[in-house]
Amino acid sequence: MSNVTVCARFRPRSSKEFRDHNDGVCVRGIDAETFVFQDDKEDELTFSLDRVFYEESPQAAVYEFLALPIMRDAVNAINGTIITYGQTGAGKTYSMEGPGIQDCDEHNKGLLQRVVDGMFAQISSLQDIARYTVKLSMPSLSINEFISNSLRDLLDLSKGNIQIKETKTQGILLSGVTEVPVSDSAEALQHLCTGLANRAVGETQMNMSSSRSHCAYFLTIQQDSVKDKRVKTGKLILVDLAGSEKADKTGAEGRVLEEAKTINKSLSALGNVINALTSGSPSKASHIPYRDSKLTRVLQDALGGNSRMALLCCCSPSTSNASETLSTLRFGMRAKHI
Ligand code: ADP
Ligand code: MG
Repeated sequence: MSNVTVCARFRPRSSKEFRDHNDGVCVRGIDAETFVFQDDKEDELTFSLDRVFYEESPQAAVYEFLALPIMRDAVNAINGTIITYGQTGAGKTYSMEGPGIQDCDEHNKGLLQRVVDGMFAQISSLQDIARYTVKLSMPSLSINEFISNSLRDLLDLSKGNIQIKETKTQGILLSGVTEVPVSDSAEALQHLCTGLANRAVGETQMNMSSSRSHCAYFLTIQQDSVKDKRVKTGKLILVDLAGSEKADKTGAEGRVLEEAKTINKSLSALGNVINALTSGSPSKASHIPYRDSKLTRVLQDALGGNSRMALLCCCSPSTSNASETLSTLRFGMRAKHI
């Protein structure tokens, strides 16, 4: 299904990876879609995706190829999801937020800031056609939320009892979630910062790192047509997923291991949903296993139907990470094919 765009992004080697002379590079670019990957048995595998970004690829290039078309469609009331996937340290958050949401120079701005900037620019160019209302939500998608039956609200911690409900007319509703109206980029970024700060506080309290929770940003874009007063809404969800590294390989024990397993489960549920969407005929739509995890439930509307999805598979270029990189690439290939 052409509604799914899958890209890979190889970050530059970290100084640690660079220092270690045994740590070679396991990827060789062929062209904009194809690269050769050397696995840990030194076999060479050729991968083709919609686009590959190498270490010198700027944030702007990733945005323009992967996110801009989805942002444009969302302004036009077509739902969309933009997801970063990969092991911890692979560049998911850098791709999504840059080095930080606020005070980020133009060059380093991530997908999130660029989507927000682009969306408001697009909206202002359409002022004569429709009135737009943009709302932002940030339900928490950490492990606690996966276990309990309600999600916390990162834009208002005093609320914290969001229920996932499915309605006939409006699709999936996060009942009780704070939806803050935002009228420009600066205002949106300010609220996103509040959400991220609240998320960090929660994680410190639970003695947990952000690599062990998913982070999702929900934008609802409502347009009221000037001419015929028709109202249409597009949902755009950006998701910085928890690290995909295999639970048993991290040396974790006890609660941390249980959490890692819960994350792995939600990620494989996401993989199954994407696979069902890209492989099934439309008549099979009812068999998409959204209910297998809270993550896929929350994303349901923005994944299925005629929505659009972009998946950025974030990868380390280093030999020492080859096996995790291979499983990230396999996740991407599975999303793309058959
Ligand atoms: P993740 O969110 O997948 O755990 P991060 O985004 O935090 O990984 O990236 C790990 C480190 O690598 C960070 O210091 C980040 O700034 C750096 N990094 C990641 N991708 C890039 C890139 N494309 N260019 C430069 N630095 C990057
Ligand atoms: Mg991260």
